Amino acid sequence: MIAERLKEVNDTIRDGVKLVAVSKYHPVNELQEAYDAGQRVFGESHVQELVAKNELLPKDIEWHFIGHLQTNKVKYMAPFVSLIHSVDSMKLLKEIDKQAQKAGRVIDCLMQLHIADEETKFGFTPNELKALLSANDWRELKGIRIVGIMAMATNTDNDEQIGREFESVKILFDELKSSVFANEDSFKEISMGMSGDYQIAMQHGSTLVRVGSMIFGERDYSKPFTMN
Ligand SMILES: *Cc1c(COP(=O)(O)O)cnc(C)c1O
Repeated sequence: MIAERLKEVNDTIRDGVKLVAVSKYHPVNELQEAYDAGQRVFGESHVQELVAKNELLPKDIEWHFIGHLQTNKVKYMAPFVSLIHSVDSMKLLKEIDKQAQKAGRVIDCLMQLHIADEETKFGFTPNELKALLSANDWRELKGIRIVGIMAMATNTDNDEQIGREFESVKILFDELKSSVFANEDSFKEISMGMSGDYQIAMQHGSTLVRVGSMIFGERDYSKPFTMN
């Protein structure tokens, strides 16, 4: 089942776009199924769950952290996480830097933008992000590399609104790319698009789509992840 759904999703992914299989709340055997079908990039949004799964699954998995991250939990994933999609404060960026240096690594990060027409989503407004990045003090953080931005569209079935929101992300990305990051080839990722809207996101320049339920089915939130 998972292998088939994964293939169906993969068949719709444009060249140059990476599929992040969002596996939160799903048991390890289901991730293994996706792994056996060739998937190597997985996204999780709870630190404990990520750490537990990393221990149980093959070592060549590229783990992405996509959820809201508390500074006191960064240390648990710093030794192995590949990309953190959800940096929403300078304080968090500094903590990632510190823990990355402790682990002898440089951790790739995306800055999370708040664009949705909703109160509940974390992230910077476009102006906050521009101000933070123009201030340059982040350039002193040698344990992190800012490789792009991440955003979530409003949870709506209005495709035009979703398209406008994703386009605003693309415009901001281009602006940053030609100013703050003009000399940095590594600034190249736009993480946007989930099961319901990744096709729209790809039309607006997404390079990373985070797809969960279309691959693994609905999540059972009444059953948090456990080791058995
Ligand atoms: C859960 C989650 C996803 C995946 O959502 P689906 O609708 O299941 O594809 C994508 N991005 C983030 C940030 C998430 O928390």
